[in-house]
Amino acid sequence: RRWGITPPLGFAVGAIRHPDRPAIIDERGALSYAEVSQRTTRLAHSLRARLAPGTRLGVLCRNHHGPIEAMVAAGKLGVDVVLLNTGLPTEQVAEVVRAQQVGVLLVDGEFTHHLDALPEDLDVVLAWTDGTTRHSTVEHLVATGSTRVLPRPGRRSRLVVLTSGTTGTPKGARRPEPPGLAPVATILSRVPLRAGERMLVGAPLFHTWGLAAFQLASVLGATMVLRRKFDPEQALGAMHRHRCTSMFAVPVMLQRILDLPERGYDHGALRIVASSGSALPADLAERFRERFGPVLHNLYGSTEVSWVSIATPEDLRAAPGTAGRPPRGTTVRLLDEDGRPVRRGRTGRIFAGNDMLFEGYTHGGSKEFRDGLMATGDLGRFDAAGRLQVVGREDDMIVSGGENVYPKETEDAVAALPEVAEAAAIGVDDAEFGQRLAAFVVLREGAELDAEGLRDRLRDRLSAFALPREVVFLDSLPRNATGKVVPGDLLARRDAG
Ligand code: ATP
Repeated sequence: RRWGITPPLGFAVGAIRHPDRPAIIDERGALSYAEVSQRTTRLAHSLRARLAPGTRLGVLCRNHHGPIEAMVAAGKLGVDVVLLNTGLPTEQVAEVVRAQQVGVLLVDGEFTHHLDALPEDLDVVLAWTDGTTRHSTVEHLVATGSTRVLPRPGRRSRLVVLTSGTTGTPKGARRPEPPGLAPVATILSRVPLRAGERMLVGAPLFHTWGLAAFQLASVLGATMVLRRKFDPEQALGAMHRHRCTSMFAVPVMLQRILDLPERGYDHGALRIVASSGSALPADLAERFRERFGPVLHNLYGSTEVSWVSIATPEDLRAAPGTAGRPPRGTTVRLLDEDGRPVRRGRTGRIFAGNDMLFEGYTHGGSKEFRDGLMATGDLGRFDAAGRLQVVGREDDMIVSGGENVYPKETEDAVAALPEVAEAAAIGVDDAEFGQRLAAFVVLREGAELDAEGLRDRLRDRLSAFALPREVVFLDSLPRNATGKVVPGDLLARRDAG
């Protein structure tokens, strides 16, 4: 049986041990542990009256107290929560709501344009709204809910987390619930977070990475500093004002912070910056260390397998961009196409196993397993010191002129050029070579570089096949809510001229 620490338990303990410590600080102010505990009891009573048996609570919110309180309240009721990605188009929101039996949907005012497409009997509760509305609001549910202590639920609440949909419609992954100590303990084994941490959570709470931050916060009695949308300037301002000790981000957030000129924000309290969700470019890791010191950690994992490897600041100093080493309890194997282990230094398919593996998708689909290890869908290689380098996603690899080409390698090389603000590279069909690499490039303000110039600058870093044969200049890169560039969106941009 899983030894579980659930966020509701964490918050209940926090309410007794340090009732006045802020649990959440967002744009509306601070809520102490005691307040969150009382508010979520009231919210739970109101939600119970609205949720038909067997239905789930859906949450479509940005980062603020709403989704946190919803998850804690659902935990008190033993109700399942479906976390929807805020970047989903209307059809996909409707699809998820229907497929996941969402009975009550907690939604931010800015996403109410989806509502017309949703089932009529769906109970809609507004989470963050600036105006008046015909719907109930979370504040109303809190204000009218009973303060009576809730009986212990007969079942545990489960979370359905959606993958980020980089490769199609997001898949619902059932996470073991309670999560047990494994995910939290795994992170703590490599990332020295402390009790009472003040955590700036930039990663979206609906994604595994933001959720991990939430679970850590509840166990550590931490204060979560949340901003609804990520803005680098505001993030630095919040870090300064609330003397944040740690930050949870996806790489593009770190990139945007570095792109800002230094403006005298104090980050003296910052000890730990944890990056995950997508690959950390080596150049970004180096520049981050120059500016913020040895604080950066890189966590590699996925919705399905949780954490595969973790890089400490020392790992990143020795091998910038590395995904680090598998933590205790996690096995990683690199296999070739035929399932045989590859030699050290060679690239192989990453298989990983631990006791945090997901329990399956909610609606079809499966992952490949070998000897109890799951195919992550990524390619990687171990260096001589046993650090894992993620080379890219298997699906992204192209064969151009008979050579294996990993777009991420090209992407990193392009992004590291001083003229370039951000870059992506993908494979596109090519009549002559089967496939060729296309680079999508956003130049820095005032920078001048054309396709030929760009290739010239890359020749000493990349093999001929890894040079982008096509270069598309854009004003910005289309990114999904977890900061990933979606290939289909890039092609749509290119074709739109
Ligand atoms: P979908 O499964 O819907 O296509 P997704 O794979 O993007 O979406 P996630 O579970 O959010 O869904 O992302 C996990 C993937 O993100 C990993 O398999 C890997 O490709 C990438 N990733 C995450 N963290 C890192 C990291 N630190 N370094 C390299 N890659 C990473």
